[in-house]
Amino acid sequence: MAYKISDECISCGACAADCPVSAISEGDGKYVIDADACIDCGSCAATCPVGAPEAE
Ligand code: SF4
Ligand code: SF4
Repeated sequence: MAYKISDECISCGACAADCPVSAISEGDGKYVIDADACIDCGSCAATCPVGAPEAE
């Protein structure tokens, strides 16, 4: 399991700075999570101002 960032993402970058395993990077129009690196900690979901990261 891993978190996934929805199209609600406004590319603020806050989640990438908080991810303990650096699984989040800037993608095309939104940030994206490397599912293989994500450890399901939920930090990105707690940090995001628009609720874009969702548990899959
Ligand atoms: Fe990173 Fe945790 Fe979000 Fe996974 S759930 S992308 S490990 S901050
Ligand atoms: Fe996108 Fe939310 Fe991450 Fe900001 S914190 S880059 S809005 S997913």
